[in-house]
Amino acid sequence: MSSRVDVAIIGAGPGGIYAAYELVKKDPTKRVVVFDSGYALEKRHCPIDGKKVKSCISCKVCSIMNGFGGAGAFSDGKYNITNDFGGSLYQYIGRQEAIDLMNYVDEINMSHGGEGTTLYSTAGSSLKKVCMQNKLQLLEASVRHLGTDKNYVVLQHLYDELKDLVDFRFETKVDRVEDLNPGYRLSFGDESLECDTCIISVGRSGSKWMESVCNDLDIETKSNRVDIGVRVEIPAEIFSHITDELYEGKIVYRTEKFEDLVRTFCMNPKGIVVNENTNGIITVNGHSFEDDSRKTKNTNFALLVSKHFSEPFKDSNGYGESIARLSNMLGGGVIVQRFGDLVRGRRSTTKRIEECTVQPTLNATPGDLSLVLPKRILDGIIEMIYALDQIAPGTANDDTLLYGVEVKFYNMSVALDQNLETCHKGLYVIGDGSGVTHSLSHASASGVYVARKILE
Ligand SMILES: Cc1cc2nc3c(=O)[nH]c(=O)nc-3n(C[C@H](O)[C@H](O)[C@H](O)COP(=O)(O)OP(=O)(O)OC[C@H]3O[C@@H](n4cnc5c(N)ncnc54)[C@H](O)[C@@H]3O)c2cc1C
Repeated sequence: MSSRVDVAIIGAGPGGIYAAYELVKKDPTKRVVVFDSGYALEKRHCPIDGKKVKSCISCKVCSIMNGFGGAGAFSDGKYNITNDFGGSLYQYIGRQEAIDLMNYVDEINMSHGGEGTTLYSTAGSSLKKVCMQNKLQLLEASVRHLGTDKNYVVLQHLYDELKDLVDFRFETKVDRVEDLNPGYRLSFGDESLECDTCIISVGRSGSKWMESVCNDLDIETKSNRVDIGVRVEIPAEIFSHITDELYEGKIVYRTEKFEDLVRTFCMNPKGIVVNENTNGIITVNGHSFEDDSRKTKNTNFALLVSKHFSEPFKDSNGYGESIARLSNMLGGGVIVQRFGDLVRGRRSTTKRIEECTVQPTLNATPGDLSLVLPKRILDGIIEMIYALDQIAPGTANDDTLLYGVEVKFYNMSVALDQNLETCHKGLYVIGDGSGVTHSLSHASASGVYVARKILE
């Protein structure tokens, strides 16, 4: 391929993959290069095996967050088709177009190995009323659950189809983007490449780099919120009436004390709790599998409170990072605590966790989350656990496990027009790196959208 290409895409996460897919499927003559600092899919491997390597060893390139498939490669593969959460793409492109694009992505996933998976929906669910009667709100969505295993298969099929049409350059971090007006020069190591159009799709792991690009090119940015909380793990039976019907119930609660909103996030029926490494900070997340043989006896989900700082302190992510660092300092990584211990004001010990009726699926350090989480956030989480206990009795049992901390970092919002184009002509920013999306479905849809704009 010559050193000037039509489109260079930075980042091979869902945003970058679907942009590349749409470009070369609709116009196979387009010369498209995709850069990713991480590995090709088959080379992505997290060394944590629960035996020799029990917790994160901070690899130079994190295989969970980087490489083909992006942060979504080992995710639970929940594609939420909704404008109610997962990003604000609809504010740029309109509600109907956003939903149409998410459905289009779903069709591609179904024709690339995802067929046979279930599409859950809140439409007509009786749970909506039960939630309302208990001061909870159930958000509306259709949820395609691929599961971690099928999600991987879909990515594999997409790569097989694209590899001869797109020039993938893995293990290649783009250092710099220069505006040649017209076109762009991307520098990586000692090399560079010129392109007519550039799509940046660097996700959460590329947030700091994205900030430097915006500084270099004078692109306006705004700080975004951060979500802080815990991951709850309970016996799967307690939530089965919710997860069997909806797979994932997105439930919101307004606390009585502070009137803060606490919400459930990323529900994994019969799943596992996992570590997540963001720029060297270890937080917690969850997975589940479509394959019955890999299912566990537990369901996990996050309870999160959003915080957005503006004046005089603006660094919402920095605030979240400090809290996560504190948990890493006290626990050497993720901390686990029984709900009963938390409300009694005592730390969980190895013995108490061993005697717990809920067997933890993540090897975390027993400790005290009240030494880590700010009171306002912790009070909100405790209030919500009692509220959930009304619709799913048993949620507030003493043996319910809480892992902390879970932090959802959001990239700063990059100033973009309705085409997701920056003030530099032909420079687009999509996916989680733009601050516009924070989910697989929205990030993928933003990739298709921009590809179509470029093809126009
Ligand atoms: C464990 C886990 C589970 C999740 N589960 C779900 C779920 O079930 N449902 C859901 O909707 N969302 C889920 N998410 C979130 C979802 O994965 C992201 O919203 C989605 O991947 C965002 O896609 P993206 O393309 O914008 O960015 P990413 O997927 O983050 O991809 C960005 C890519 O850019 C590369 N990159 C960054 N900087 C550079 C650079 N300078 N040069 C070259 N390459 C670079 C990175 O290596 C990365 O591969 C999960 C996330 C995690 C971590």
